[in-house]
Amino acid sequence: MIHPAGQPFLVFADEEENITDFPDLHAAGMSAGSFVLPAKEDFIPLPEGSELFVLPGRLPVGCDQANGEPLLLEENPFNPNDSIRAVAAFMSPAHTAVLNSAYQTTKDAPRLPLFAYTAVGWYDGRFWTTAFRSDEDTRQDASQFNQNTINKKTVKKLQQHKNNRLIQHLGKCCLTYGCPAARNYFLGRWEAPLPTSPTCNARCVGCISLQASGKCSATQDRIQFVPTPAELSEVAIPHLQQAEKAIVSFGQGCEGEPLLQCDTLEKAIIIIRKNTDLGTINLNTNASIPSSVKRLADAGLDSLRVSLNSAQEKYHNNYYRPQGFGLSDVCESIKTMKDAGKFVSLNYFILPGVTDSENEFKALSTLLTQCKPDRIQLRNLNMDPEWYLRSLDFKGSSKPLGMKKWLTLLKNDFPELQFGYYNPEVR
Ligand code: SF4
Repeated sequence: MIHPAGQPFLVFADEEENITDFPDLHAAGMSAGSFVLPAKEDFIPLPEGSELFVLPGRLPVGCDQANGEPLLLEENPFNPNDSIRAVAAFMSPAHTAVLNSAYQTTKDAPRLPLFAYTAVGWYDGRFWTTAFRSDEDTRQDASQFNQNTINKKTVKKLQQHKNNRLIQHLGKCCLTYGCPAARNYFLGRWEAPLPTSPTCNARCVGCISLQASGKCSATQDRIQFVPTPAELSEVAIPHLQQAEKAIVSFGQGCEGEPLLQCDTLEKAIIIIRKNTDLGTINLNTNASIPSSVKRLADAGLDSLRVSLNSAQEKYHNNYYRPQGFGLSDVCESIKTMKDAGKFVSLNYFILPGVTDSENEFKALSTLLTQCKPDRIQLRNLNMDPEWYLRSLDFKGSSKPLGMKKWLTLLKNDFPELQFGYYNPEVR
């Protein structure tokens, strides 16, 4: 991976949201509220398909070139009467943040929407961001998608399956939200989505399908019906039989918790496996109900992806606001799936400063030792970092390890553990 020859410079946005660099200050990063001068090796070229966000009500913070100290930029250095805002990178999939965007939030600033905000700078004619590629799989790379082909194939399949409500729902996910999994379904390749549940037994602060407070909008609407086993298998069977590297996944961003639809999932998996033993049947879940995980594993479920913001009970509770379950049930679900000889991934929400805090590292190491999942998917937390830290009532006990050192230590301590970003094929 290439890194900049010199330290990237701060970028900011002017009143018209034009993004400019300011060579008097180096780009800074943030780690759970603390400003950091990133190392040059922390920067990679901004990946194709990434977006730059202008952050309302946030003033950019850079680093003094001489001593690396953080400095606030309160006005446009090229036009003092002009107000300015901080800028962040929303990286394309398969990239994990090392540091968040550095800014100071002004009074009455609006909450940031449900995206990840990674540090970004400018050097030698391009944007650089503090991240690393966490999966070489290209299934959601921007270069893999041609909109005309997607439109043609989606419209054709929607006409062929007018009576399948699930396929019609996925049509909206594909054409309206641009969901990469729905796109790959209509393109007949890789991982396809099987959303099923309008309800959930958690109230995650950063839920992307339901934001009851209204202070922040959900990124997609929740499915409003439970597909039948026939509708599910009409999507899954041909996909598993025909697609390259085929995976079908229950548990998508456009639904609640699929374990609440255990009867439907069990019947669907049995029908699917009666018709094909090809490909991987996966379940993305909050892993709240071990007994349902057992039933699905017995029915033929191949892999489980467990979403997890923290391995510390307090922070897990404060984020998931669970209804009738806790971290111990989540661990029990992982052990249940492992006892059935199946594959388990953690969908681990990454926030620099929290993830690589010493207490979180210890708690995660204990969970890995006791539950033995096979893989960690290094997913950036898609949420306003300050809102998240407040919601967790986060207390950083000591200086964070640094994301790259955190990953190295984990790899040393757990040499069998896989690291990535996506669900792997396991059959
Ligand atoms: S478990 Fe998923 S669907 Fe349920 S509240 Fe959390 S993010 Fe939303």
